[in-house]
Amino acid sequence: MELQTLWKTALGEIELQVTSASFSTWLKESLLIDNHEGVAFVALPNNFVREWVENKYAKIILGSIRSIDDSVKQIRFVVKTDIALQKTHGQKKERQKKQLSFADFRVDPETNLNPKYTLASFVVGSSNELAYAAATAIINNVGTKYNPLFIYGGVGLGKTHLIQGIGNEIGVKYERAVRIKYVSSEQFTNDVIGGIRNRRMEDIRQKYRNTDVLIIDDIQFIGGKEKTEEEFFHTFNALYENNKQIILSSDRPPGSIPTLEERLRSRFEGGMIVDITYPDYETRIAIIKTKLQEAELYLPDTIINYIASNVKRNVREIEGVLNNLFFQSEAKKVELTEKVVETIIRNIIQKPSQNISPNQILTVVGDYFKVSLEDLTGRSRKKEVVGPRQIAMYLLRDMLELSYPYIGESLGKRDHTTAIHAFEKTQREINKNQALNQKIMMVKEMIYKSNST
Ligand code: ADP
Ligand code: MG
Repeated sequence: MELQTLWKTALGEIELQVTSASFSTWLKESLLIDNHEGVAFVALPNNFVREWVENKYAKIILGSIRSIDDSVKQIRFVVKTDIALQKTHGQKKERQKKQLSFADFRVDPETNLNPKYTLASFVVGSSNELAYAAATAIINNVGTKYNPLFIYGGVGLGKTHLIQGIGNEIGVKYERAVRIKYVSSEQFTNDVIGGIRNRRMEDIRQKYRNTDVLIIDDIQFIGGKEKTEEEFFHTFNALYENNKQIILSSDRPPGSIPTLEERLRSRFEGGMIVDITYPDYETRIAIIKTKLQEAELYLPDTIINYIASNVKRNVREIEGVLNNLFFQSEAKKVELTEKVVETIIRNIIQKPSQNISPNQILTVVGDYFKVSLEDLTGRSRKKEVVGPRQIAMYLLRDMLELSYPYIGESLGKRDHTTAIHAFEKTQREINKNQALNQKIMMVKEMIYKSNST
């Protein structure tokens, strides 16, 4: 049988055995490139996907192929370069679209930018048009117009998206001529700590000073960390004096970062400061439509309007609702009526936190991941315990908005920074990893259910 036909038939079988979200995330891009002497070679777009598929789906794939061609005894998973894939794959257009979802994983190792954050996919409305205008102005005048550019605003309003979008756009426009570096302030802090500890501070300085555009996300976190602030101050000056562009984001304006050194504050205030506020109704509609288009999903206008009217807090929440809708309709085959949407919004967004106790969350997480309550709240650092514990920390924060010190203390007398780290890490992972996203949604559902029984 021809390779393509064999694979198409096998994929049809596989599709019935995995959730459609997993299928489109992991397997849609696969190809059968060879089949001889009992070995079938399945090609995947990159190493990350290859590993994932090999670990999770090898059995299903072998079974499905063998049900069609039982001469196959073994599957080998390989990585195919994009170019080679493009040549062999018939439906070129289909490919390009799907590749967008893979792009999520390919953070550029040089710049640390995630290519999924583009200015083209950033919806502009009254809440962010000033910030957007400043961003575009910078692209044409790197280092000379607004320096630093300081963008601030609440959680989930698009700061990371916008500042990474600037970086990506500059990257496209100037190619390799402009060196860009994006880091979270947490990464910057870790570098400084590592530099001190390993006596390699000079390397760290070089790393940050050999750039033309330095982007630091959530700069508010360096407040109060003296050594980091000092290093940053010198890096800032070195870059600034050489007309290098500095872009910063923060959850509040410089004047409101309580422990920020005065000299840094005045540096920040010497550039352009713009805020991003809550998106208005029209912008929310535009954002929902854009996200649906990106995910190739359809929702009727009545539901779009309903979401826009009810989910107002931030864009991340809108994405959360859409992900959940997608999950309900694709994985659980629930029809998306207004009633269903209403329930999702009520459960997930409006956080009926009063009725849920921290214990309920811990019990469900423990049950789901098969970890005892004792381990979850204990000091064990075994891998089987640490992962679920981080998820528990995430949920305690996400669902109950408990304080980080409280969460850290409750789960093994840990420092609040551990809780912050767990929350932020999980949140990042959820955005990248559809399987984890689904697991967490499942757990949330169980928590809500445990509440109503
Ligand atoms: P912040 O850094 O301010 O907490 P993010 O940049 O992480 O927020 O945004 C949260 C999510 O919402 C991201 O997935 C981002 O792509 C999306 N988002 C935020 N603002 C917009 C916008 N104006 N247009 C499109 N997507 C947006
Ligand atoms: Mg951010």
